[in-house]
Amino acid sequence: MADIFQLLAERVLAGTPATPEDALAVLRADDAELVSVVAAAGGLRRAHFGNTVKVNYLVNLKSGLCQENCRYCSQALGSAAPILKYSWLSKDDALKQAGAGLGGGAGRVCLVSSGRGPSSRDIDRVTDMVVALKEEHPDVEVCACLGLLSDGQAERLKDAGVDAYNHNINTAESHHDTIVQTHTYADRVDTVEKAKGAGLSPCSGLIAGMGESDEQLVEALFALRELGSDSIPINFLMPFDGTPLENTWELSPARCVKILAMARFVCPDKEIRIAGGREMHLRSLQSLALHVANSIFLGDYLTSEGQAAHADLEMIRDNGFVVLGSEEELAQRGPADPAIRRRGAGTDRVPNA
Ligand code: SF4
Repeated sequence: MADIFQLLAERVLAGTPATPEDALAVLRADDAELVSVVAAAGGLRRAHFGNTVKVNYLVNLKSGLCQENCRYCSQALGSAAPILKYSWLSKDDALKQAGAGLGGGAGRVCLVSSGRGPSSRDIDRVTDMVVALKEEHPDVEVCACLGLLSDGQAERLKDAGVDAYNHNINTAESHHDTIVQTHTYADRVDTVEKAKGAGLSPCSGLIAGMGESDEQLVEALFALRELGSDSIPINFLMPFDGTPLENTWELSPARCVKILAMARFVCPDKEIRIAGGREMHLRSLQSLALHVANSIFLGDYLTSEGQAAHADLEMIRDNGFVVLGSEEELAQRGPADPAIRRRGAGTDRVPNA
């Protein structure tokens, strides 16, 4: 019998997008079909990203003390989770933290702050950090994640050299109001649109395991496809004690792999990132998940510790992947194309002599 997931992958690769019914079939695949699902989704991953893994590093610029009431969040109003709480890191501290991630192999730094959204002064702080970071590390990609944006803020970030903006839709529109009441789903979408409008690469994803139905997970994913999110972090709920969702355990490792595979079938050429909850929920299937997703966070998360960074890098190597932008990856790209001369004779620029 033909493998239905392989047929789906071939169809998607040939340009016919996956439908919500296809996505549900992936999500509801029997555990006995897990390897077939991974093989088919893995083919799409390889077609678009080869053997590369994008490695991202989080810097939590401001932790806790948030006035919003997102039920999953350890930094939210009313959360009793014993997390680190601090106000803005200094520029030097932020640069030091970012430098550690880059030294560890990350290619993108995600500068994150808790809170509903940034003030004009907060944007000043972050743009200052970004200018300094890019001076020190010209090749770094910077993603900012500062909450809901007001008019003009995305443009200021873009002008300072920010490459991408993260704002997750988190869950389906039909489930949103059971998860948070202090802002709306439309507020979230509006911020992603503002980022896109300013020319920032939109990064928006979801959190699975918050009481949503299969159909709602599919709804969220198709909303992200519609939004044109370039990178899609897939988080698995970490049910912190002291938050309203404590003791919410709905995910198995196999289900997490199927969620990632579903994301790959629906958005085959987008960066699918295994985000928060990777170690806790995928456990020994982390490696398998890497054959479907093409991006991870290195090391720690915003308020919780991840596995040791060297174990992340070892997992990448052991599975035959290379870190995007690493010397190994650059070597496999082969020699660069000849650079066309734009200086010296025939120009008014100084010669290379
Ligand atoms: S706005 Fe952000 S930091 Fe605040 S509670 Fe929601 S997710 Fe947490």
